[in-house]
Amino acid sequence: MEKAKIFGADSLNKSKYLSPEDIPVQLDMFSRSKKYYPLKPFFISGECTQCGICSEKCPIGIISPETGDYMNKKAKDLCIGCMACVHFCKKEAKVAKPDFIMEQMMKYILKKASWQRLEPLTIFGL
Ligand code: SF4
Ligand code: SF4
Repeated sequence: MEKAKIFGADSLNKSKYLSPEDIPVQLDMFSRSKKYYPLKPFFISGECTQCGICSEKCPIGIISPETGDYMNKKAKDLCIGCMACVHFCKKEAKVAKPDFIMEQMMKYILKKASWQRLEPLTIFGL
């Protein structure tokens, strides 16, 4: 609990200065990789009314207001998985649902992570 309190205080104090390098490092083969694979939203085109809200709210502007989907394949690659589009879509046309590969990765990571008791990791390099 003491470690959790310290972690919370550090997160609060430093939250304005977080960068992608501050993302916690987990002890698994995926997050050891330099490449970051975020969970990306799943699009249900049949529910979309093309209202354009997700396009307005996406912080990196990769959603087409005409279709509600990514503008193109490169746009999907750029998605940071922030889920702003999921949060703001009132039609539930965007959902945070992992695809098969992501689901398998998450299962593997959780299995590895729960294999033994680990100490909390310090993520800010203090
Ligand atoms: S916010 Fe939802 S309904 Fe509106 S365009 Fe985006 S996905 Fe479609
Ligand atoms: S998850 Fe974030 S970055 Fe990706 S499409 Fe939605 S709003 Fe844009």
